[in-house]
Amino acid sequence: MTDTLDLTPPAVHLHIGAERLSVGAAGTHDHVNPANGKVDAVIPLAGPADVDRAVRTAHEAYKSWRKTPPPERRRLLMHLADLIESRGADFARLGAMDNGTPLATAGSFAPMSADWTRYYAGWADKISSDVTGTLTDGGELDFTLAQPYGVIGIIITWNGPLISLAMKIPAALAAGNTVVVKPSELTPFCAELFAELVVEAGFPPGVVNILPGDPAAGAALVEHPLVQKVSFTGGPVTAQKILESCAKHMKPSVMELGGKSANIVFADADLDAACFLGTFMSVGVLSGQGCAFPTRMLVQDSIYEETISRVTLAAQSITVGDPFDPTTMAGPVVNEAALHRILGVIEKAKADGARLVTGGSRIGGALADGWFIEPTVFADVDPASDLAQNEVFGPVLAMIPFATEEEAIEIANCTKYGLSAYVQTADLRRALRVAHELVTGEVLINGARNLAVNRPFGGLGRSGFGKEGGRQGIDEYLRIKGVGFA
Ligand code: NAD
Repeated sequence: MTDTLDLTPPAVHLHIGAERLSVGAAGTHDHVNPANGKVDAVIPLAGPADVDRAVRTAHEAYKSWRKTPPPERRRLLMHLADLIESRGADFARLGAMDNGTPLATAGSFAPMSADWTRYYAGWADKISSDVTGTLTDGGELDFTLAQPYGVIGIIITWNGPLISLAMKIPAALAAGNTVVVKPSELTPFCAELFAELVVEAGFPPGVVNILPGDPAAGAALVEHPLVQKVSFTGGPVTAQKILESCAKHMKPSVMELGGKSANIVFADADLDAACFLGTFMSVGVLSGQGCAFPTRMLVQDSIYEETISRVTLAAQSITVGDPFDPTTMAGPVVNEAALHRILGVIEKAKADGARLVTGGSRIGGALADGWFIEPTVFADVDPASDLAQNEVFGPVLAMIPFATEEEAIEIANCTKYGLSAYVQTADLRRALRVAHELVTGEVLINGARNLAVNRPFGGLGRSGFGKEGGRQGIDEYLRIKGVGFA
C-alpha cells in the first residue's frame, strides 16, 4: 500500500487573504513522523506580525462578507463541501501524515467534514429572529436581530486536524463572520489542503485565513483587539490561559476541551455491541486520543468478569502498526512527549493498585522507532484514582464495577469533566432515566454515533462550554441585538 501512495509531505504555507507565504516571522517547526520518529517536513510558523496582518485582512473582508446574500454564502459552502468530499483520499493520506491516524480511520473524516460543511451551508439562509412585542400589544414593535460578530479567532488541536476545521469554520462563515485559523503546529498538512480548497471553492480572499503557528501565534490571535470571539479546541491548561487573555478584553469564547467519559454497561446490555464499542472507541480508534471517547467503562457486577474477558480479547485483536497499512486499526500516539506521559500514567495506575489485564508497554520490534503503545486495559480501577479522574489521551481504558443504577450514576458524575457519557442497556426507561441524571453535554445510548452534526456537542465543567453542531452550533457565531420601534 505504502508503495503506491505519494508520501511526500506537502509544502505548508501561511494563507493570508490572497497570499500564500512560504516563510513566517516565527521561524520554522520540524514536523516529526510519529510512526518512525524522523523529521519529515519543515513548516513555516506565523509570528505576531503575520497574525496581525491576517486579522486585519479578515476584518476588511468581513465588511463585505457580512453583506453577502445568504444564498451565496450557502452556495460557496456547498461547493467547499463537494471539494472536501472529492479529495477524501488525499485528506486520508494527509491525516495519516499529520499525526499517524491509520488510513482506514483517517478516510472517514472527509465525508464527515463534508457533512458538517453542508449542514451549516444549509443554515446560512435560515437564520431567523424573534418579534418580542407588537404595536398592538405594547405600543412598540420589539424584535431581535441575530448578527455575526466579525473576525473569529479559531485555535484547534492535533487529534482531528480536518474534522476540527469543519466543526468550526462553516458555522462561523454561514453566520456571516470571517475567520483566522491557527491549526496545531503538530498537524499542518490537512489544513494546507483545506486552505487550497477554500480558494478553489471561490470564497473572497480574506474570508478564511489559515496560519501554521505555535502557541505564541495562538496567544497573539486571542489578544488581537479586532478578534471578536475565540473558538478553541484543546486542553484545559491552554484554555485557562486563553480565558485569562479573553477576560482582559471582555471577549467571549467557545471552549471544547477534554473528557473522561463514562460508559455504563448494565447487565441487560447487548454485550457484544457494548464490548466492541467500549474497547475500540477507547483503546483502538485514534489510539485513544479523542476527547469524547468512553475511557471509563462502568460495568454491573453480575457481568463484570465476563466483560473484562471480552474486552481483553477485543483489545488484543486490535492491530497496531504502520498508519499506511490498510489493515492497521491503531497507529502511534502523536509525539515522544505523549508516549512518555502515557507510559507514566500506566505506571502510576499500577502503583495505585489497578489490575492490568492487557497491554501496558511501548511496542518494540519493527515499531520501536515510532511512538507506539499497546492497547491497555486496567480493571478494578478506584473511581477516585488518577486513572479514573484524569484524561489520559492515549490507549488506556479504566474498568470499574458497580452494583446499582444509583451507584453507576454517582461514579459517572464524580469527575471534574462533563463532555460525553454512554449508556448500554435494553431497558429504555432506564436509559432515559440515567441520561437525565448524567452531568454531561451529551449522552449516547446503545451505540449512537459520535459527532452527529445535527446534535449539539460540547461539555460542562472542565470539558468547557459552548456548542458545535445543531442549531446551537451556529448560534455560537451570532450575537443578538434587541430593536425597539415606537
Ligand atoms: P493544547 O491545548 O496544548 O493545544 C491546542 C492548540 O492551542 C494548539 O494549536 C496550540 O498551539 C494552541 N496553544 C497552546 N498554547 C496556547 C496559548 N497560550 N494561547 C493560544 N493558543 C495556544 O492541546 P492538547 O492539550 O495537546 O490537545 C489535546 C486536548 O484537546 C485534550 O484535552 C482533548 O480532550 C482536547 N480535545 C477536545 C475536543 C473537543 O471538541 N472537546 C476535540 C479534540 C481534542
